[in-house]
Amino acid sequence: MKDTPYPCRSLCGACCIAPSITSPIPGMPDGKPAGVACVQLDAEFRCRLFGKPDRPAFCVSLRPSMEMCGNNRGDASAYLGSLEIATRP
Ligand code: SF4
Ligand code: SF4
Repeated sequence: MKDTPYPCRSLCGACCIAPSITSPIPGMPDGKPAGVACVQLDAEFRCRLFGKPDRPAFCVSLRPSMEMCGNNRGDASAYLGSLEIATRP
């Protein structure tokens, strides 16, 4: 059976807020700290750079999954927050 892609939930945005991003983002030249909303996140929690070449590679590689997204935004924030602590240098 072919895997069906896990759908990104609307009005979530947890993965554009919880993780730190170390590469430049248009409008955030030094990337962003953990827990800060990306400036490219619009009011509907969608990425303004989606499908554009200047979307950071980190974001392109981050795919929705049950493990990351959980059942709600709180699950996703908790998972991404724990990952952030685990990968802190
Ligand atoms: S955490 Fe998952 S559901 Fe939430 S915005 Fe990111 S990909 Fe979508
Ligand atoms: S660039 Fe887009 S996908 Fe990446 S963190 Fe910002 S809003 Fe999210």
